[in-house]
Amino acid sequence: ALVPSSFGIEFDNVSFNYLDGSPVLRNVSWSIPGGQTLALVGATGSGKSTALRLLFRFYDPYSGHIRIDGQCLADVTQKSLRHVMAVVPQDTVLFNDTIEYNIRYGRAGATEAEVHAAAQAACIHETILNRFPQGYATIVGERGLRLSGGEKQRVAFARAILKNPSILLLDEATSSLDSMTEKRIQDALLVMRQDRTTVIVAHRLSTIMDADMIVVMKEGEVAETGSHPEL
Ligand code: ATP
Ligand code: MG
Repeated sequence: ALVPSSFGIEFDNVSFNYLDGSPVLRNVSWSIPGGQTLALVGATGSGKSTALRLLFRFYDPYSGHIRIDGQCLADVTQKSLRHVMAVVPQDTVLFNDTIEYNIRYGRAGATEAEVHAAAQAACIHETILNRFPQGYATIVGERGLRLSGGEKQRVAFARAILKNPSILLLDEATSSLDSMTEKRIQDALLVMRQDRTTVIVAHRLSTIMDADMIVVMKEGEVAETGSHPEL
């Protein structure tokens, strides 16, 4: 099992290709101390989401090492890993169940007040109440089709907030949000990032500027690493 202390994350010479294809990550190395935020940026197809998926152990095997506090992911159980992580993917697939079930997933014992607070922080609470007559009891439909992409991602964000993980992985949606919602999500994210290690695939300049470290990916390789003033 994973025995982490500060939740620092390290990619050490990681290379990966999907079963059917050419190399997607090539000798990727970066590390982030526990509690800090790393932004992964780069052109479409450069391997950002793939790096997050490897961190969440969606895909094995890869070459090189990914470590949390020096412990190789390959050596720890999936369960102990997922216990400390929450992921907000780029394209969220929801369970065909109620909105409430989808937010609670990962912390089933949360109270209703906690569920609503998480939804509020993720800017989805009002949408749930205003757009759906059945509110939190609304069935989201197959893969969540009754919700827009941005709404689905905010449900996933609410789920992550409720889970209160030590490591947060967030694949920022490219969908445009109105500026008010964007600002509120940004604020929620700033709060959420405090005292936990965060890896964000970032598209918004504000997210990138707020990160402790930026890794620029290019065609599966790390092109540059640094902080915002350096790049
Ligand atoms: P974007 O900014 O568009 O989200 P990205 O940097 O997240 O791009 P990835 O999704 O990691 O890029 O994809 C990197 C490469 O891997 C691309 O060439 C993509 O076509 C390929 N790829 C991604 N997912 C799969 C998959 N499940 N099977 C095969 N190839 C994949
Ligand atoms: Mg992506």
